[in-house]
Amino acid sequence: MDKDRRILTEEEKLSLLNKYKECYICQKSLEGYDRNEIEFDHIYAFADGYSQDLADFAPVHASNNPLKLCCHKAKGRKSPINYREELRIQNKLEKISGLKNLLIEPIKSVYSIDENNMKISINNKILPLYNQKIDNKNNYYFFNVIDVKYIGNDEIIQLRPLEAKIFNLIMNLKENVQLLPSLGRINKGENIIKLFDGQHKAVAQIVGNNKKELMCIVFVEPDITKIREVVYQAHTDFVQQRYKKSHMDAKLADMYKDKITKYREKVGNPEAAYSEYDILQGESKSEITKFLRSSIISELRAETTIIQDYVAQDKNEQKTKPILWQSLEKFITLYSDLETMSEKSDDKNNHRIDEIKNLLFILENILEYSIKGKWNPDNLESEHHKLSRTYYYKTAFNNWYSILEKALRMAFDQMKGKAYEGSLCYREEYDEQIKDRFSSIIKKLFFHPLWVIENNQKEIATANIDSVVTKLFEKEGLDYIYLVNL
Ligand SMILES: [Zn+2]
Repeated sequence: MDKDRRILTEEEKLSLLNKYKECYICQKSLEGYDRNEIEFDHIYAFADGYSQDLADFAPVHASNNPLKLCCHKAKGRKSPINYREELRIQNKLEKISGLKNLLIEPIKSVYSIDENNMKISINNKILPLYNQKIDNKNNYYFFNVIDVKYIGNDEIIQLRPLEAKIFNLIMNLKENVQLLPSLGRINKGENIIKLFDGQHKAVAQIVGNNKKELMCIVFVEPDITKIREVVYQAHTDFVQQRYKKSHMDAKLADMYKDKITKYREKVGNPEAAYSEYDILQGESKSEITKFLRSSIISELRAETTIIQDYVAQDKNEQKTKPILWQSLEKFITLYSDLETMSEKSDDKNNHRIDEIKNLLFILENILEYSIKGKWNPDNLESEHHKLSRTYYYKTAFNNWYSILEKALRMAFDQMKGKAYEGSLCYREEYDEQIKDRFSSIIKKLFFHPLWVIENNQKEIATANIDSVVTKLFEKEGLDYIYLVNL
């Protein structure tokens, strides 16, 4: 295959313009667009190694005139085929506010139940009928994939409009299996299968995957009032507890590891060095940040019990652990580098391993001077415990973690005699001199006289916004200059 991107001849471009009268991306006419307002894009991404056949090229709007279309620019780094699909979905979503707009005038179902209540015959299918018997009352239901022409939206029970997250769900279900069915009911008289739960999934399958059938559980002649109550409770009282923060991070870290394994399978070497750029290509910036941060947290957890012992992952754990999970994430975000590195994992300029060692060093020193020998949830009234508690109120943490970073950075530059770019921890492992210096700065932070003054402790404990503590620090003279001064 040619390494270089194919350059089309004038003749080839003309043949494409004969074939396509519309822009490949937005599917609107190319009429009125001069030749210099049209680009010929590779339909699938050339960078992904797709064929260079003429058939894989198509014309798209590329006008610099602000009154005209420039689909070529609008697609950004996406391939025209993916971007076209996204546009199609967004346009479709703009026209609907819910499932009701997609399921118009559903056909009545013809159904009957056998004499033993074991089978239902519906729209020419015979299906097993199940029963959830509660207090001698029967509750019959069946499972099946059902043709959308028989399905309607349940205007009585299903009241919620679509939420914005539907777009992401649609994109997700284009690549993944749907795990749970939608829920519906059928009641005598109207004889229409009405969906009352799982609307987003249903819309995603119809709009995103052009599905003509939906996976459903259908309750047969249920008590509508009862169902309505249950659905309401399911969305309020019984919403499942969110995943604990640490579980979410562990999951993300696992997903990241899977990506590395897949990459190594692809190159046929289970030990292959990789770059984060290879692994995370195509992910959004916020996803990349999450992957890298969770991977750092998971590395740290393998090296130390600080996170397990002192970081609270929910409200309940805040009684026994001083550090908020949110604070840990902020700390990692500021002190490490959450951009993808193009250096391979075994390159000497890749500092991910050093970064973990450096983060650990700083964390251990923070632990040493702010928690060890102080934090004691069994004795809430002790002066030491109160002091330790004070350091970790959100408003206090949000101030000192950035002051400390600034101070350490400045001390580092002073000792090295030059200004270093990049994050504080993503660099070669700190040498002994740097470590001594950092250690004394961290100690100085937590031994500042302001922390032990009772009024200050009260002020911090009741502060709702960070700026209250910022002012207190200013008043008491705690800033990075103070920390760096010898
Ligand atoms: Zn266009």
